Amino acid sequence: MGVNPNILSSSNVELVKRLFRENFREYAGRYALVIVFMAIVALTTALTAWIVRDVVDSVFIEQDFEKSFYVGLFVILIFTVKGFASYGQLVTLAKVGNAIVAKLQLRMFDKVLTQSGAFYSKYPSNDLITRLAQNAHAARLVIDMLVTSLGRDVLTLIGLMIVMIIQDPFLSLIALSIAPPVIIAIATFVRRVRKAAKQQFDFNTKIVRATQDTVAGISIVKSFGMEKLMREKMGSAVHSVESRMNRIAALSARTSPLMETLGGLCLGAVIIYAGWSATDSGRSPAEFTAFLTAFLLAYDPAKRIARLHINLEAGLVGARLMYEVLDEPVVIMDKPGAKPLSLNKGAVNFKDVSFAYPGQEVDGQSDSKVLRNINFLAKGGETTAIVGPSGAGKSTVMALMQRFFDVREGEIKVDGQDIRDVSLSSLRNSVAFVSQNTFLFDGTVRENIAAGLSDASNEQIEQAAKIANAHDFIVQLENGYDAEVGENGLKLSGGQRQRVAIARAVLKDAPIVLLDEATSALDNESERLIQDAFEELSKGRTTIVIAHRLSTIMSADMIHVLKDGELVESGRHEELLAQDNVYKHLFEIQFRDGEK
Ligand code: ADP
Repeated sequence: MGVNPNILSSSNVELVKRLFRENFREYAGRYALVIVFMAIVALTTALTAWIVRDVVDSVFIEQDFEKSFYVGLFVILIFTVKGFASYGQLVTLAKVGNAIVAKLQLRMFDKVLTQSGAFYSKYPSNDLITRLAQNAHAARLVIDMLVTSLGRDVLTLIGLMIVMIIQDPFLSLIALSIAPPVIIAIATFVRRVRKAAKQQFDFNTKIVRATQDTVAGISIVKSFGMEKLMREKMGSAVHSVESRMNRIAALSARTSPLMETLGGLCLGAVIIYAGWSATDSGRSPAEFTAFLTAFLLAYDPAKRIARLHINLEAGLVGARLMYEVLDEPVVIMDKPGAKPLSLNKGAVNFKDVSFAYPGQEVDGQSDSKVLRNINFLAKGGETTAIVGPSGAGKSTVMALMQRFFDVREGEIKVDGQDIRDVSLSSLRNSVAFVSQNTFLFDGTVRENIAAGLSDASNEQIEQAAKIANAHDFIVQLENGYDAEVGENGLKLSGGQRQRVAIARAVLKDAPIVLLDEATSALDNESERLIQDAFEELSKGRTTIVIAHRLSTIMSADMIHVLKDGELVESGRHEELLAQDNVYKHLFEIQFRDGEK
């Protein structure tokens, strides 16, 4: 997991400041409203304590019914106002909080969308899912906690302390003596909470991972009897999260015995002192009762404030993890003023291209590069095949061509323009990519073919499906083009999925086609349909194909043989066979079987 230690150790104060800077201002008006409601709650709570004096006076001492009546009415009023103010505070705060969560989740998702290959290697999907689902809430929680504590609790505490001090300054001093030991004790818990919260996140990503793996590979899980293994993986992650949550709860709850004991001590001291001073000085029981009520009412907000730092810590860990994603620089983007690609025939030219994946060491040792000094020209309108053993770097060529990564050395030109100089959107619009693992989105067949081309008409979609030899099977599906394909196209066969993917590329009508032929064997019928579809798609377009089938290499205008990251042979099928070298060997083991 790519947790950046800098972000984890950045100071809480900085982090809180940033959270407020980025989120508080935008909603300042609504927060102001929240604070007004909180001030009313604080004020009514303080009044509750204040009025106790009059209650005791009117009911017990003066035994004045009329006064009691008005005091009673006033109490009803105070509590009603408090109730409505609490309602307003809770609802307004929740609405702002939810708006912040939505905003942060979209910010994170936008960041994920704009990133390139290196980012996805650093943050696996389970990590990102967990961050998106949880960390925006953590950030909101931090803001909520601070606003609530600083607003409601601190204001309430101040109000009650004023009542206490007015009633009896000396007793108030005794009550306040509780604070220093609590503050010291809390500080020792905080570090442990931070650690447990980070671990809790890590184990949560494992839960997502185990679920993803199990569902995606359910047939393998079942057929190899891996249920027990997956159960164990899940069990260990789930129990680890459970124990971390328990630890955080225990640390947070540890403030309770501390506060209760110290609070009791304080209260006891106050009572003993009051008993002594009352007999001594004959003070009014009403004053003392008011003081006591204020003290008891102050207790809850004080406890919450004491626990604040601990609860905050768990939320701050989440906020840090969120900022880690938000702060990732976007490596691949348009140069300032980048112009759209100006297309002629769509010729693709690799010039001295070398490449290593991010994190792979290249200094001085060219051996660790995935591609070395690759030179080739895929002529406009022609079909260029790339062949080579597994791991030779063929897919990497496709990735570089689409700028999922930037080359380390050399350049890739399309119609004479370096692809790093043109706008990314124009480059990607010019390329239709059919990957080996055809990916279908959860949705209908129609949506999968349209893939983002929202203005594609039904006729265009059907036309593309016809060219891709997909129309016939699609109309036989229960709902035809509106049939749901299921998660990752589970409801279609392998060959059908490929034809949907080809239809998607046909519809895109891009001048450059990148094909990564499936290695998986299909029945002859599917094979022929797909081959025909590929040929239709390639017509008149610059096609670069990672070839696994005999018919593809036979019909290619040019074949490049890639081995261990280097281009070792180039030519047409017969020429290469005649060279009796790498290609011939590859042909014998890889392509011969397909010859029928
Ligand atoms: P081919 O398509 O010819 O099978 P690839 O281009 O997929 O080969 O891979 C070439 C090499 O690059 C392999 O050694 C592979 O392990 C490595 N590789 C591929 N993708 C990544 C990646 N995202 N990060 C790191 N290494 C990778």
